[in-house]
Amino acid sequence: MSIAGLISNLFRRNARKPAIYDFAIIGGGIAGLSAAAALAPLGRVVIIEAAPQLAFHSSGRSAEMYLPNHGTRAVRTLTAASATHLHFANGGVLNKRGMLLLGRIGEEQYFDYEMRAGAMAPISLEDAGVYFPLMNQHHVSRAAWSSDALDLDTHALIKGYSDQARAEGADLHLNAQVLGLYQTPSGWEVGCSDRVVQARYVINAAGAWADVLAGYAGLPPLGLTCLRRSMIDLPSPSGYDVRRWPHVRAAGGRWYATPSGHGLILSSAEEDPVMPTDSSPDETVLANGLARFEDMTTMSVSRVNRTWAGLRTFAADRSPVVGPDPLLPSFIWLAGQGGTGFQTAPALSDLLADRITGRASSLPPETVFAVSPDRLRG
Ligand SMILES: Cc1cc2nc3c(=O)[nH]c(=O)nc-3n(C[C@H](O)[C@H](O)[C@H](O)COP(=O)(O)OP(=O)(O)OC[C@H]3O[C@@H](n4cnc5c(N)ncnc54)[C@H](O)[C@@H]3O)c2cc1C
Repeated sequence: MSIAGLISNLFRRNARKPAIYDFAIIGGGIAGLSAAAALAPLGRVVIIEAAPQLAFHSSGRSAEMYLPNHGTRAVRTLTAASATHLHFANGGVLNKRGMLLLGRIGEEQYFDYEMRAGAMAPISLEDAGVYFPLMNQHHVSRAAWSSDALDLDTHALIKGYSDQARAEGADLHLNAQVLGLYQTPSGWEVGCSDRVVQARYVINAAGAWADVLAGYAGLPPLGLTCLRRSMIDLPSPSGYDVRRWPHVRAAGGRWYATPSGHGLILSSAEEDPVMPTDSSPDETVLANGLARFEDMTTMSVSRVNRTWAGLRTFAADRSPVVGPDPLLPSFIWLAGQGGTGFQTAPALSDLLADRITGRASSLPPETVFAVSPDRLRG
């Protein structure tokens, strides 16, 4: 076919496209993309993203881990319910890693609690030193191990969902910031910086900005809090091949480190509340995190490759928020995923579709309620 023919076909296809959508999904992170893949078979979907690219905010800044014993009871259930998709869909995104927990001398109470909460097994310091040769035996008193922790290829998961959504006909508008939401007799007019979109339902997948979006719709906020977390990409410590090392966490939220390529990603593991923003790391926080890491290892850091920060957004009870707002049921929440938005994405997006269609969820009823917006509206 000639180029003119191709263009004319494309034009005809676009001309046929309806201006009115069933679902306007606000946010092009893992939440919005997994929602698009789940909803596209059910109706016409548009994803609206303010940034020039997908996964620009939290979804592009994570530690890329699957930690099945992390988070609230509801988060653990959602993580377990996501395992089959994460292991097998599109070739799977999980890979073996393992996790080592270290307790600093004098801080054993944190270690004991975290070891139990994480269903980890105590191991000798000698064995811990084999898993993580940088461990400073003089400052570490206890160690525990779990093989459950896995690497999660977030890029592959994002690509899988966005390919699936587009193959089902979802539209994507980048560089389109939602500035207002107006109710109409048939649903919503979504006022963006570059266009107006009409939809029956608004899906609030706006991450750190989810409460701001609720305000645009005339709803009170759910009281979500954004907590900044800073990360440092360290070059490989000389003389070591780090690629098979486990994910290592220091009890008491002192730091965590995980292999990435040939180096290590270190997090100062802070939870500093901030306003929704394009987050950047705080130099003092980074320096303190590095000092805590050096204290428990034999590594002296003289150079870093790069640093960044991302926001983890939590409801007061630290479980996600999924489902129609009881005050305005055509406004649907998919927010508050905190530090587990990737490992719970398959189950959360399935639940989102169930809540919209009225289908029975395969999750236990207590989990459905534990993540429902109803619990936060009193
Ligand atoms: C340091 C760090 C480590 C983490 N590690 C892990 C991990 O190991 N495993 C795990 O499962 N999770 C992890 N997480 C959590 C995970 O990254 C988040 O839960 C997840 O990315 C949240 O996805 P989201 O789509 O809700 O948010 P985002 O990715 O932030 O997407 C929301 C999008 O909404 C857009 N938006 C907001 N307002 C508007 C508007 N008005 N108009 C248009 N667009 C708008 C924003 O531009 C943004 O792109 C980590 C997070 C951080 C910060």
